[in-house]
Amino acid sequence: CGIVGYIGKRDVAPLLLEGLQRLEYRGYDSAGVVITSPKATGLKMVKAKGRVRDLEARVPKRFTGTTGIAHTRWATHGAPSDENAHPHLDPEDKVAVVHNGIIDNATELRAKLVADGVEFRSETDTEVITHLIARSEAETLEERVREALRHIEGTYGIAVLHADFNDRIVVARNGSPVVLGIGEKEMFVASDVAALVSHTRQVVTLDDGEMATLKADDYRTYTTEGSRTTASPTTVEWEA
Ligand code: GLU
Repeated sequence: CGIVGYIGKRDVAPLLLEGLQRLEYRGYDSAGVVITSPKATGLKMVKAKGRVRDLEARVPKRFTGTTGIAHTRWATHGAPSDENAHPHLDPEDKVAVVHNGIIDNATELRAKLVADGVEFRSETDTEVITHLIARSEAETLEERVREALRHIEGTYGIAVLHADFNDRIVVARNGSPVVLGIGEKEMFVASDVAALVSHTRQVVTLDDGEMATLKADDYRTYTTEGSRTTASPTTVEWEA
């Protein structure tokens, strides 16, 4: 339903929670956030059924980081619950995915993965994306995501964080909006400009079939086949 992400120098958790709050008007049944930082060795995640304030209440004292992605969920596959809330992690807790949309061939993909010995932690269609990325042996995170998406039929706006590639967030769009927010040595991503405009008015709207890599001081966009696309920011007008 709603996605917010940030990479930069600021304390990321409050920023993401505030972003989620700005998406509240869309309605949702659960929420979650995963964070890391350049010095961190792993990911830290909190999820909760309910409102953003229920999530906030669960965030531990030292939940610090400078990179993260967050989600509010409107359940399509699997009941609203803590486990079904996004992000979804792989068994090694390295890959985190938040997703808006519906994976049409999730049942098929899930059956194949289960037959291969993969243990699922949720009932969502989204979790197949996590496992597909985690199982890719491609060199870069971008290629791993691209490889995973080749198996996916359906709609998605996704944001991906990986513990071993924690200098970046990789995002992709097919049928669910993804907007990049371009800052000064910081980058934002969201499913709706409403979550960005308090930080930057410089935005890049992804097209269907487009992906992007966000680093703190740089971003680039390309197609799901890997060829670069042009992405000059435009300025959004917004009445506060
Ligand atoms: N289909 C996914 C799920 O049920 C994502 C739903 C959404 O867009 O929030 O978890």
